[in-house]
Amino acid sequence: MMMKCTRCGIAYSHTRSTSALVLTYCGMLCEVSDLGYSMAAFEKAPIVELRRAIRRRQEREEVIGLAARMAA
Ligand SMILES: [Zn+2]
Repeated sequence: MMMKCTRCGIAYSHTRSTSALVLTYCGMLCEVSDLGYSMAAFEKAPIVELRRAIRRRQEREEVIGLAARMAA
């Protein structure tokens, strides 16, 4: 099955993806740069680290949302 990476847009085979989210990202690097963390690390990381990663992601989305509103 050929997939299109959500992050970089490249076409890839899901059997070759090094990401834990094989149907979403072509590889681990895209997973990490898009989420701000890897799912593999997510499963092992202490809860404090997870909260921090999630907060970073939310903050980034807020900044993007704000920029979009300002540009509109
Ligand atoms: Zn990719």
